[in-house]
Amino acid sequence: MYHQPVLKNRRTLLERAEKFISDIYFTDCNLRGRLYGDSCSLESIASFLSPKRITFSEASQQIFVPYKVGDTFGPTWWTCWFKVTLKIPETWRGKEVHLRWESDGEGMVWRDEQPVQGLTKEGEKTSYILSDCLKDDEPHSLSLYVEVACNGLFGAGQEIFIGAPDPNKKFSVQKAELVVFNRDVQELLTDFEMLIDIVKELGEGEQRGYQALFTVNEMVNLCDPSDPTTFSKARSLAHSFFSQRNGESQHTAHAMGHCHIDSAWLWPYEETIRKCGRSWVTVIRLMEKNPDFVFTCSQAQQFQWVKSWYPGLFLEIQQYVKKGQFIPVGGTWVEMDGNLPSGESMVRQFLEGQRFFNQEFGIYCKEFWLPDTFGYSAQLPQIMQGSGISNFLTQKLSWNLVNTFPHNTFFWEGLDGSKVLTHFPPGNSYEMKGKVEDLVKTVKNNKDKGRVNHSAVLFGFGDGGGGPTQLMLDRLHRVQDTDGLPRVQTSSPDTLFSQLQADSALLCTWTGELFLELHNGTYTTQAQIKCGNRQCETLLHDTEIVSSLAMSQNRTFQYPVERLQKLWRLLLLNQFHDVIPGSCIELVVEDALRYYEDIRSDGAALLQDALKVLGSKGDNAGVFNSLPWERHEVIQVQDGAGKPGLALVNVPSIGLSLVKDTSPVAPVSVTVQGDGTVVMENGILKAVVNTDGTLASLCLINANRETISDGCNGNQFVIFDDVPLYWDAWDVMDYHLQTRKPVLEVVQPVHVVSSDPLRGRVSFTLRISDKSIITQEIVMDAMCPYIKFNTEVKWAESHKFLKVEFPVRVHSPNATYEIQFGHLQRPTHRNTSWDWARFEVWGHKWADLSEHNFGVALLNDCKYGYSVHKNTMTLSLLRAPKAPDANADMGTHHVTYAIMPHAGSFQEASVIQCAYNLNFPLRSIQCASDTQPWSAFSVSAAAVILETIKQAEDRNRALVVRLYESHGSHVTATLRTTLPVREAWHCDLLERPDPTRPAHITSEGIALNFSPFQIVSLLLIL
Ligand SMILES: [Zn+2]
Repeated sequence: MYHQPVLKNRRTLLERAEKFISDIYFTDCNLRGRLYGDSCSLESIASFLSPKRITFSEASQQIFVPYKVGDTFGPTWWTCWFKVTLKIPETWRGKEVHLRWESDGEGMVWRDEQPVQGLTKEGEKTSYILSDCLKDDEPHSLSLYVEVACNGLFGAGQEIFIGAPDPNKKFSVQKAELVVFNRDVQELLTDFEMLIDIVKELGEGEQRGYQALFTVNEMVNLCDPSDPTTFSKARSLAHSFFSQRNGESQHTAHAMGHCHIDSAWLWPYEETIRKCGRSWVTVIRLMEKNPDFVFTCSQAQQFQWVKSWYPGLFLEIQQYVKKGQFIPVGGTWVEMDGNLPSGESMVRQFLEGQRFFNQEFGIYCKEFWLPDTFGYSAQLPQIMQGSGISNFLTQKLSWNLVNTFPHNTFFWEGLDGSKVLTHFPPGNSYEMKGKVEDLVKTVKNNKDKGRVNHSAVLFGFGDGGGGPTQLMLDRLHRVQDTDGLPRVQTSSPDTLFSQLQADSALLCTWTGELFLELHNGTYTTQAQIKCGNRQCETLLHDTEIVSSLAMSQNRTFQYPVERLQKLWRLLLLNQFHDVIPGSCIELVVEDALRYYEDIRSDGAALLQDALKVLGSKGDNAGVFNSLPWERHEVIQVQDGAGKPGLALVNVPSIGLSLVKDTSPVAPVSVTVQGDGTVVMENGILKAVVNTDGTLASLCLINANRETISDGCNGNQFVIFDDVPLYWDAWDVMDYHLQTRKPVLEVVQPVHVVSSDPLRGRVSFTLRISDKSIITQEIVMDAMCPYIKFNTEVKWAESHKFLKVEFPVRVHSPNATYEIQFGHLQRPTHRNTSWDWARFEVWGHKWADLSEHNFGVALLNDCKYGYSVHKNTMTLSLLRAPKAPDANADMGTHHVTYAIMPHAGSFQEASVIQCAYNLNFPLRSIQCASDTQPWSAFSVSAAAVILETIKQAEDRNRALVVRLYESHGSHVTATLRTTLPVREAWHCDLLERPDPTRPAHITSEGIALNFSPFQIVSLLLIL
């Protein structure tokens, strides 16, 4: 059936076909030039410009002025509303009619007061279909609104897309008209495109590629663009090619529509709400036309936004969820950062997310979905399993700069041994386009060939939203079973994971964290956000505990369920994977800091309300301890005249007592020596502080051990050049380590601020540069096993990285870092590429370097970036990237860190407890004068930490308590309580009690067994 035997070479045939569908070349005579038929202009366009994002009903009340295509509007972040009236010509009967709209910015079409279609050039959506086949009884005249946001899919970056936004961008509409759309041309173009791509992707080594080449060449021969009657012959040739089927062993690509929408990134939270609206309404339009189309959609917060802002759209989404086409995934409130949120925050991500999905859609997600964050905590598998989830999808480790992760489908085993089935789509993307390239990559890149024959293909514009297009669906539809390409099956995460589970016998297991070898600056960038996160986690922890105790002690106290949920949701929102990592624009930082302020002020008010009830409204100074161990600490108090003073107090675990000053076993002494150095001593530690604030010596007195390495100084500030390759706010590169410079210029040498038997304080000031300065107070408290460094940095650098170092007399191949509900080890050497790729790592409240019987811990109250190389422990303090926030981290910062040498292991030395103490200050409470020391809860084993006490969801007079094993040991512990607990049940992290597992209450308390790093939740009925 072919024309003449083809003599020409591969290149000319291929390029001939490419030019036949080119949108640049030969459009006067090629097929692409025939895509649109007649056109006609709109009856009228008028516009109204708003600096704010307003609702449709507000916008439609405004006065609109005539708009001419090409006129500019703006600036960035404003919104231009267009009112469009149109009249479809009678002669277009039987034709497919589109409103063709090409403009800058992101658009949304409104019709009959409802959002109906998103429009973005970047997302390849420039048509709103008015009619598939115009009939007489369809409306020919109508008016629509188009809401155009003055920002692109990726915000409004200057020069590069991650550049700080240009606030003065101008926008315009380039095309606004009615056109006849030739669907038959589009279908044929798609045939051509797929065949051409098969030729290119299969390359010269595959004979199947040549079959595609000769097919496509013959199609050009057969097809006369000016004569639509010739199209069918070309189409049937393509169809025969696509219908040549695979053998049974072929790989299956599970195609799922997706639209990754960053909850805030290069645009503010408020714009994300509209991105969700635009993207998801477009998905619903596609579902109407394509009943097989399946779309996966994560982040409960975004659903909540759509429910509030687009209630009509939300109802449609609920219907398509029921049909199984619109599939909520992930189970979390937002797609959070995988490293920095605390253990309890991670639990709350799932608790808020899963409960929302259950309330709104009657489902619990079965898979965790986090394709785009910068590493994954080793505690996640246990938290997933506890939240009803045993499958996990991501792909970000494909971004590793140094090592190639060895699997695409595997079991991931967490810190406690929990396993989840994990899949990285081998196409290494969550925003594929349904192209041949995506399918070929999916098969070629699969690192588990022979073990796994199923993979996910997630298609749809993403990051800034957009989502799938009809063209992507059409592409995938053609090659469902085409020899040479994987089988393509419209699928759901559940189908994919069930298939993977069924064939999992040969799968490998990866144990421990999934560390991303890139973006390691995100542990430090935007210090105020990190600080807000840590402090608000602490505040909500305390507020929940005090409120729970107040409720259990006083029946009239109302646990503030709604207000606490609102604050938790704000905190969880800021844990989104471009907010807490600090990789967002300045507008987002402002929003995030405002949310932290809301949490701080509302949380503090709730805490005070509850403390008042708990203290029975007395007026004697008392102290409340929210941690599950007795504390003996120096606190600030006021005497009767309001004069500040100090007291050494003793407070029971999770309880309170009156302030009763006790004398220290050894008072603190601070002595200035002849050379200006200062000796500080408290009977546990003896420190020698140099005039420049560094530590010449730090001695653990009882063990007679020097902490600081010979010839070195501790507390040494160091500054590095910090110029990454591209991702400014994200990346710190290994080569920055070669630019280390100690901060040496002393502005004010060390001097004594106060010397009290309970607390000694010395201070000094250093200059980093003519723009930046450090002032630090070194604090030694009586009875305290660590020295605190209260640090203020005035920071105005550009592309610099500030850290503080402690070279210590410890030799060990591994350092230990606190993570969520536990800790893990990472190497201190650089033996292999896997070791040296971890030159900058994350941890939470502490890191420790120990050898047998001695070690040193570095504690902090708001930092996450660490490195321990050989015997030098380093805490990362501040960075100064310029994109996407040109002012990132400029200003004044406060951080407290502490150094704690110890005998024995860090477990035996209570490093974990000390780090909690540093982060959770004792709270003052007003008590009655006869108040006796009272403890609500205590735990018999030091290894077990009672982390959370809260009111149970949906239940009054019931508490949920969460404990975890923190030492990495099998242990039995008794949870003792003075609260009137009637029943106790084991429950999961979603607080669903396990009817088979009552917890036995004896006169001693509740006996519990723990395996290493196990999290245990109990439902206590009062
Ligand atoms: Zn993202």
